[in-house]
Formats: sequence, C-alpha cells, structure tokens
Amino acid sequence: MITDLLATKRDAAELSGEQIRSLIEGFVRDEVADYQMSAFSMAVRINGMSDAETSALTAAMVDSGDRFDRLTDRPRLDKHSTGGVGDKISLILAPLLAAAGAEVPMISGRGLGHTGGTLDKLEAIPGFQIDLSAARRNEVLKQVGACIVGADASIAPADRRLYALRDVTATIDSIPLITASILSKKLAATLDALLIDVKVGRGAFMTSVEQAESLAGSLIRVGTDSGLPTAAILSDMSQPLGRSIGNANEVNESLDVLDGGGPDEVRELTLASAEILLVQGGLATDVDQARNILTRLLDDGSAMEKFQQMVQAQGGRLPERLTLADAHVITAPESGTIAQIDAIELARVVAVMGGGRQKVDDVIDARVGLDVHERVGNRVETGQPIATLYQDGEPDVRYIQRVHDAIVIRQQQVEKRPLLIRRYPFE
Ligand code: URA
Repeated sequence: MITDLLATKRDAAELSGEQIRSLIEGFVRDEVADYQMSAFSMAVRINGMSDAETSALTAAMVDSGDRFDRLTDRPRLDKHSTGGVGDKISLILAPLLAAAGAEVPMISGRGLGHTGGTLDKLEAIPGFQIDLSAARRNEVLKQVGACIVGADASIAPADRRLYALRDVTATIDSIPLITASILSKKLAATLDALLIDVKVGRGAFMTSVEQAESLAGSLIRVGTDSGLPTAAILSDMSQPLGRSIGNANEVNESLDVLDGGGPDEVRELTLASAEILLVQGGLATDVDQARNILTRLLDDGSAMEKFQQMVQAQGGRLPERLTLADAHVITAPESGTIAQIDAIELARVVAVMGGGRQKVDDVIDARVGLDVHERVGNRVETGQPIATLYQDGEPDVRYIQRVHDAIVIRQQQVEKRPLLIRRYPFE
C-alpha cells in the first residue's frame, strides 16, 4: 500500500529498493497521485534518505525513460554546475573536452528568476537549436564530439514530474532529492565520468561550505555507487563569475576565453574542471599533464574551432562577437577597494531589464546585460569605470542605482577570495 510506504518515510525509517522502485513506477503510470508524491518529497525533505535509498531512487528515475546511445568508444564526460551568476563554463568546457578527444553530450537547462541558463545563452546565437532529435544528436556527437541540448521528455521523465512538484511544495532543497535528480539525467546520458561544480556563497544555492560539502559528498558516493565515477569541486560564488552577466555578453566572454584570453577566473575554473575530467576519462595520466594539453587547446584555437563546429551543427550562425544593446558605463563614486559585489542583486537587475525570466514562458532579450569590470579586493579610483550596463536608449536610473548599491567600495584593505575552495577526490 502506498500509504504504508509514506508512513515509513514519515516515521524516518528506511525504505527498501523495491519499495522505492514501485513508488516511482506507480507515479509514472499515474497510479501514485501527485499529492502522494508531494507527501513523499516532504517526508524526504524532513527526514532525509540513506545513500542506499538515494541510489535506488536514482536508478528508478533513470529507468523511467530512455538512455543515450553509445556510438563511439571515446570517453563520455560531462560537468554539472549547481548554478551561479555569470557561470558560462559549460560553453567553453564542452568544446574544450571534445577537442581533447572526449565525447560530451551535455544536457542543460533554462534560467528562471535570477539564475541564468546555458540554453538561453546559446540561443543568443542566431539559429542555435537546443532541441535535437536522438538521430541528429548522435550525428553531432559522432562528427563534432560535443552537443549542448535541452532535456527532452524521454530522459528521466519521473525526475521532470517530481521536480515540478518539488518546485511548488518547498522541497527543492533536499540533498537526496537533488542528488537523485541530477544523477538520473547524467546516468541517462551514459557518461563515463562526471564532475560536479558545487557553487558556494551568497550567489549560490548552497550558501555555506558545510552545506556544499554535504551535497558534493552525496553526489560522489551515490554517483560512484551507481556506476558513474563522480568527482566534485567547490567553487566560490560570493561574487559573479567573470565579468559578464546576461546572455549575448556571456557568449562573448566565452568566445574571449576560447580565443585564449578572457577573465583569468573563467579560464582558471574551466581548466580546473576539465583537467579532473581528462584524468577521470583516461585522456591524461595526471592533472599536470591534463593542464598542459588543455592550455594548448585553448591557446592554439582548437577549442574555438570545436565550438564553431558545434554551433554550426546545431544550426547556429556565429558572428565574430554577438551584438549587445547600447552600452552605458558606470563609474566608481569614490576611491577605495571593492569589498563586496552582490551577485544575486546584479542578476536580478539583468532579469528585470529583460535578460532573465520572471515566469517560465517569458521571452528573453539576449542583448541586455551587465559587465562588472572589477573583482572583490581590487583597488579603484573615483571616476574609473566599474561596470557597463547594456540597455537600449537612455539607461534606467533605478538600475544604475541598484548596480551602485550592489558594488560596495570601502577604504580599508579587503582580501581577494580564492576561486577554488575544494577539489575531490584530488585533495
Ligand atoms: N538541478 C537539478 O537538476 N535537480 C535538482 O533537484 C536541483 C538542481
């Protein structure tokens, strides 16, 4: 009986693998009602799950849908980020790994509220298609080695339906449910290795290092137990990643990195992520060798060439750089050191300008955005440009004021913050 199963979890006892599988199978067949699944999510949110239960939930959700075909013997690698402001690493990492000999079938998402989505960024490129048929996806993977697509209805449908319920029942922030949700989609993509980038800080889902460590640990244990070698990094999200927040401007910043330039922290996080994956995938013997390979591929144009091939294969027409709305420079009101950059507030400004969604069916204006030219700990002088707002016509003074309020300048010294907080299992 489904009510007995719910009572077990309500009373914080452990469910068997068979019970979890029958729950998910019943849910997909509409024999378990949404209100029962919502009650299950709340019981898990409150009482948690053991790793064995989380593995069983993950497996049942994978089996609710299809798996990607394997057509080559190249190692299949992917990265998942828990989401942060200005996080455009996927755009650079997928072609870089493909240039290094890996296959990268990346399933990404759209943005909602202050969070940006990789798919929205790619759709800033004219013609870019995120929905590929299975046959076309296979062709692109075979020819190019990388594709970035949306999750279609055949991939872990149980997760898609459960996520929609969690979204409206305050049960998103449950470590076992997040673990099963992320891993079910990655296992369905038949990967050989996965890296999770858990963002930590005010601009992230996990605001403390302790929370981030718990999520990373759960993903590593359950991923590995499910047959998918999983590593993780914890990276700082107390300020935006790189300079750009938006869609077209984030593509442009990614192109800068693919050209061998771009902001140091974007290049560094890309290399730090990719080197772990190359070692996990057997394409390098250690991280030093991996870094040498990856640095060369970024600097000699190979990664850029892969990105161009991927965009073309997915229907996109990539110009040298994407066109942005009118640029309005914002200057430092006083001299001092940048003490804080409120990433969430800046992302909200971009979203209200039309660069993000308030509701799932909102249409995005890819040309609007914001570039922040400085990072926490940098010295600035009065009148020095600290940000550029991209908005057509006269800039809205309310947005300019919000940007000023979000970038705090102080007179005293402020420490620069390390980008990489932890690496597992490499230290
Ligand atoms: N991302 C997912 O795919 N699932 C979650 O539950 C949370 C973040």
